Amino acid sequence: MHIAARFTTPRVLQSPRRPPEPRPLVPRARKMSAPPKVGFLGLGIMGAQMAARLVRSGAQVTVWNRSLAKTEPLKALGALVASTPREVTTSCDLVFAMLADPQAAMKVATEGPDAAVAGIAARPPTAAPITYVDCSTVDAATGEFVGNAVRAAMVAGAADPDKGGFLAAPVSGGWRDCRDGTLLFLCGGSRAAYDAACVPHGLDAMGHKRWLLGPNPGDAARAKLMLQVMMGNMVGSLAEMMALSKASGLDERAVLDVLSNSAMGNPLCTAKGKLMMEMKYEPNFQVYLQQKDLRLALQLADDLGVPAPISAAANAQYVRARQMCLANADFAAVRMAYEAEVPPDKESETGELN
Ligand code: NAP
Repeated sequence: MHIAARFTTPRVLQSPRRPPEPRPLVPRARKMSAPPKVGFLGLGIMGAQMAARLVRSGAQVTVWNRSLAKTEPLKALGALVASTPREVTTSCDLVFAMLADPQAAMKVATEGPDAAVAGIAARPPTAAPITYVDCSTVDAATGEFVGNAVRAAMVAGAADPDKGGFLAAPVSGGWRDCRDGTLLFLCGGSRAAYDAACVPHGLDAMGHKRWLLGPNPGDAARAKLMLQVMMGNMVGSLAEMMALSKASGLDERAVLDVLSNSAMGNPLCTAKGKLMMEMKYEPNFQVYLQQKDLRLALQLADDLGVPAPISAAANAQYVRARQMCLANADFAAVRMAYEAEVPPDKESETGELN
């Protein structure tokens, strides 16, 4: 069971504003050659929109998700639905995964007879070389582990592992960027895998900038965690400012407006500050994911012997938010972890706690 399943959905999340279901398919132009076969594993908030972009690129897309219901909107767009990851990697030449965390990425790719690598090993020697692209945010060890498993499966299946192969490609951007094809891809892996993924029915359909950061999956994983340190700390710090503003009797809207117009202003703080003020925590990027990213970054800092006290403090607030049943809320809800510590009324200021 994934970690978020242990928490119930709080009332503040029960508003209907969710990412929209992928838009209906625009009829494709008739093509002479067979469309490329692309697979997609994991149809969460991000994956559903990314897979829809691939369908619209003209590829023949086969999707798989642990919970079958999430495949329905993609099926309506024209995607095929597979019942296992193995089916996807057996039948598709370019396969993307967008899964919650290291456990999910490893399980889907490598565990058991239905895993993605089982399908790679079962591909006939005459099949085109496969490229497996994991876009999930994971730690370096997970990226290396999955990369090695993909390579071993290619060798077992008599494919040339130097054609295609494994690419780690975590993303920066939210579901709107998935929908609009404006994601940023941070890539780590071989040049062959990168080139095989950077095609109009691949990364180029879903993103508008990409970097090959190094020859190993871990190069991308570590770079992505650097961004998550900034994001988690920034939004944690914003939550602290908002809670303090309120406790000081200040007009939060005015403080946020000043911040947005100052040298410290940025689109993330303006957007998340508004959500915090309005207490609108429908998920875009969930608390459980931001806390996972800080946990992985802290593990990296620990391994390197680099102090990361700010990230450690912010992480504690995201853990607290999870304890408050906010795991599936947008990570702006970390503000509620601060609110929980603010004395509720004036009596507390005089020491008369009830
Ligand atoms: P999400 O909506 O929670 O979706 C998670 C996906 O992982 C679902 O398809 C889920 O399947 C699957 N999953 C979880 N545990 C699994 C398991 N044990 N076995 C098989 N499948 C499992 O998350 P998301 O927002 O799409 O994020 C996906 C990844 O992108 C994460 O690594 C996240 O850190 C990263 N990311 C997210 C954003 C964002 O704005 N949301 C931005 C950048 C990067 P079910 O549907 O069956 O639960």
